[in-house]
Amino acid sequence: MTVRINDILDVVSSYLPDEDLRIIEKAYVFSARVHQGQTRLSGEPYLNHPLEVAHIIANLRLDATAVVAALLHDAIEDSLTEVEDISAQFGEEVALVVNGLTKISKIDFRSEEEQQAENFRKMILAMSKDLRILLIKLADRLHNMRTLEYHTTSSQHRISRETLEIYAPLANRLGIYWLQVELEELSLKYLDPQGYQTLKAKLDTIAREKEQYLEDVMARIQSKLAESGLRTEVKGRIKHVYSVYQKLIKQGIPFEDVYDVLGVRVLVGTVAECYEALGLIHSVWKPIQSRIKDFIAMPKANMYQSLHTTVFGPGGGRIEIQIRTREMDFIANEGIAAHWRYKDGSQISERDGEKLSWLRQLLEWQKELKDPKEFLQSVKIDLYPEDVYVFTPKGEVKRFPVGATPLDFAYSVHTQLGNQCIGAKVNGKIVPLRYKLNSGDVIEILRSSKQHPSKDWLRIAKTSRAKTKIKSWLRTQEIEQSISLGREILEKKIKSLHLSKDVDYEELAKESSFEEVDDLFMSIGFGRTSVNQVLGKYAPEEQKKTQRIPGTKKKQDSSSIIVKGVEDLLVRYAKCCRPIPGDEVVGFITRGRGITVHRYTCPYVSEIDSQRLIPVEWDNNASESHEIEFSVTCVDKPGMLGFITAAIGGRNINITKMRASPISSGSSVCIFRVMVKSLGELRDLFNDIRKLKGVEKIERQ
Ligand code: MN
Repeated sequence: MTVRINDILDVVSSYLPDEDLRIIEKAYVFSARVHQGQTRLSGEPYLNHPLEVAHIIANLRLDATAVVAALLHDAIEDSLTEVEDISAQFGEEVALVVNGLTKISKIDFRSEEEQQAENFRKMILAMSKDLRILLIKLADRLHNMRTLEYHTTSSQHRISRETLEIYAPLANRLGIYWLQVELEELSLKYLDPQGYQTLKAKLDTIAREKEQYLEDVMARIQSKLAESGLRTEVKGRIKHVYSVYQKLIKQGIPFEDVYDVLGVRVLVGTVAECYEALGLIHSVWKPIQSRIKDFIAMPKANMYQSLHTTVFGPGGGRIEIQIRTREMDFIANEGIAAHWRYKDGSQISERDGEKLSWLRQLLEWQKELKDPKEFLQSVKIDLYPEDVYVFTPKGEVKRFPVGATPLDFAYSVHTQLGNQCIGAKVNGKIVPLRYKLNSGDVIEILRSSKQHPSKDWLRIAKTSRAKTKIKSWLRTQEIEQSISLGREILEKKIKSLHLSKDVDYEELAKESSFEEVDDLFMSIGFGRTSVNQVLGKYAPEEQKKTQRIPGTKKKQDSSSIIVKGVEDLLVRYAKCCRPIPGDEVVGFITRGRGITVHRYTCPYVSEIDSQRLIPVEWDNNASESHEIEFSVTCVDKPGMLGFITAAIGGRNINITKMRASPISSGSSVCIFRVMVKSLGELRDLFNDIRKLKGVEKIERQ
């Protein structure tokens, strides 16, 4: 049955009896004209789609503006209609919502990751302007999913996956349970038709077989609660296909072991009655201790409130029982729509805004996180509500994703507390930063003014808030360091030029089009700007051409490396990987100690922020020696060490250190530090040693 405009008007007038509904009729006429002659893939007139979407919106009992916008949601997209036309005919508010929907209508979440992130950012921005944009978008998606059969298999898959990853979680976050469930079931039906049908058939069978059993349980609860004067409504329920499907897949358990497929929902009048009912039910059947959950004291992020318990019912069968007030039940199903309806004004109201703190957080992060990939990652984490609930020492409840640590807790209280966090007391016991929070923990953060964030904190923290704060601290540090390094490089260069008059840094900065002197230093420090360019007019002609670090006897080591655009800079060779000419190398801008050269393959390099890496090259004309370390595994026999040292001496190579120690099964390991000029020389030496009898293995450290 297709929806007609009168159906929509009937629904709206049932909850908005005093509203003038002519604007809805007008929108219908407008939409009919715009979509005239257009058809959907199903062959039906296109107009059916906006009508269906508006009907869903009316059933969510949203205001007339939302219904009008739903009727017009594809008007701009599919025709020559301009937003100005909509604004002129239906007002600013409708135009804003329709325009927001148009902007996000072309969003394709399965495109390139960056694009995807950017798209998501746009969507979050659009829906923050007016929550109705998101609600209509969800209704739009729901109708599209209901009519997905007319698409090709590949677009069915694409759209279903997108629905499962983005829209169903959004519906969950808004607390609109029925919408979430329908989106999930429809997606699964297309993504795994066979799995879906098999599971559905099994669930139907159980529902039939257990019908009487469930009736008995419900009757028992009803009479038990009635004895205590509680007026209740008891409903039987069976789990939805998708939630069972997820259980089977996620926990990898066979269908027979999913025991809480059957459930009972008990509705009572007040919160006190909820707890009373829980006690009464437990007096009849034994609860499974670990499965009692109090979402009344600790509501879910999407406002869901209820008591859950799983009991051993008659005959030992396990049944999940949910106990809540009627109002809670209403919110559990309708979510934000229940709170938001009848409200005037389009912005998220103060009260709902608080309930939707996740949405506010998203907005905050999208401002802070410049990298779209990071943003998307944080959004994805925060969309999936697997939460733990912990307490502050004052008994305040805080919610975190599973795996969160004391760092996340500290940063959720205050940035400074996070930056100085050294650990925590959990339930009175001291735990390290890596401790994973559990529901029910009482957390007290330990701090020290000497503490500060470090890079590995990024691996310890779980929430995007904490990570963002840590990153921003590290970034600030890095900027300060590169400013001082840049200043050092510039000052050294100026000194080496022996200029007669002082150089005005401000003038230099202006000439290189930097606004501040610090910006100039920073750019040099990061290796983006060359001092030669900056000091171009001061430098004598010949020095301008060469970019080589002049080899001086005093500064040994620094002469074999060319750093692009920088001269006379302190260069060190990393002790971790001991590079020599011939190795592929990269420079690392240190904190005020010049540049450290690492081998490209050094594991440390992958840990360094790429912004602080700088390309360097070996100077082929240089002939300095560099200390490297290698180990030789050989047979543990007299004279072995002598043969090896002789081989090294035979190539005129100096040994600076050596150590031999026996290892198991008659072998020993000798470690040498030697001075070599190049990779070629080292290879030759290795070949010589390898030829010695009794040598098993040579390894450069
Ligand atoms: Mn649409």
